[in-house]
Amino acid sequence: MKKITFNKPYINYENYFRNLKKLKNFNHYSKHGFFCHKCSDFLIKKLKVKKVLMTQSCTSALEMCAILLDIKKNDEIIFPSYSYVTTVSSFVSRGAKPIFIDIDKNSLCLNIKDLKKKITNKTKAVVVTNYAGGSCDMNELKKLKRKFNFFLIEDNAQALFSTFNNKFLGTFGDLSTISFHETKNIHCGEGGALIINNKKFIKRSEIVLHKGTNRVLFNKQIINRYSWVDIGSSFGLSEIHASLLFNNLKNFKNIFNIRKKIWENYHIKFKSLEINGLIKRPWFNKKVKQNYHMYYLLVKPSIRNKLIKFLSDYKIQASFHYLPLHNSIFYKKNYKKKLFFKNSQDISNQIIRLPLSNELKKKDSDYVIKKVYNFFKKI
Ligand SMILES: *Cc1c(COP(=O)(O)O)cnc(C)c1O
Repeated sequence: MKKITFNKPYINYENYFRNLKKLKNFNHYSKHGFFCHKCSDFLIKKLKVKKVLMTQSCTSALEMCAILLDIKKNDEIIFPSYSYVTTVSSFVSRGAKPIFIDIDKNSLCLNIKDLKKKITNKTKAVVVTNYAGGSCDMNELKKLKRKFNFFLIEDNAQALFSTFNNKFLGTFGDLSTISFHETKNIHCGEGGALIINNKKFIKRSEIVLHKGTNRVLFNKQIINRYSWVDIGSSFGLSEIHASLLFNNLKNFKNIFNIRKKIWENYHIKFKSLEINGLIKRPWFNKKVKQNYHMYYLLVKPSIRNKLIKFLSDYKIQASFHYLPLHNSIFYKKNYKKKLFFKNSQDISNQIIRLPLSNELKKKDSDYVIKKVYNFFKKI
């Protein structure tokens, strides 16, 4: 039996080795070199944004956001409770008080109705996660931002090149983050980027990226030695990673097209299971054009783990994720507040993510579909 892995990260070795040779000629492998600039220029042009800084991970970019927001102890920041750990921990570690809200049961993104209830004049920022390449209603969110004047941060780790109303996700927030982790559509092993849409943050972001120094001015030969001027860390992406990333970025249309074909194959063939009420398929806001990051099914909690086990018996790797963050060990220990969010908890128990990557063959996705059907015939 052939093993069908959940994800198979894509590398074009020929191009990668060619770029590595270039690095050897440049004699520069650390940060802020040729390929980092190539990647950020590519993203600036494509997304039509003011500034992009390449980082070691999406988490690094989120940590930079937290520094740039200048969080004071117990500043309130609102988060969806169904998200990745570092969406929230990056801000909490700088002293923010997390205010969790529920997600929407269709988009699995932040629930605007619940946001309206929880938002106050004390809300410093709202962090949205653009889950599975989709988003909440960005028009509603923009209206609330105007009314309450909070900073909007998009954790856009999963939604690179998705759009809402023909505008790229990641370009709505004052600050937004991207992940180039090997599990994302475009990857370089580990990598990320910070998108800066609010120019107020530009100058300081370069200092924070350069470990809290004014090295950028030194590099531009404006000053003759650089100094420690602010907090910061070693957030930048190495040239070795960037040289791999640049190839994959340039090749994104190809990569997305292959993912699209597999995604749509799943979606069409699972339709009748949905009609029979056995599963629910992914849903997107009508204004969203998604990037085919993830294919998931929602099934009854009582059978979710059985389905994962059944597939694994046929060497198909399926997975689930996100223990709601308000139920995490850390939150319970430090906040001692019992919260209940129906959608977040339901989805966490219902979701099953199916194999999807641009290295997955269509016939393998057909095999996955066949086995899911077999499972439902058996139960
Ligand atoms: C993958 C992911 C992250 C973390 O990305 P890293 O690059 O591994 O730090 C953060 N948030 C979301 C929503 C993610 O999907």
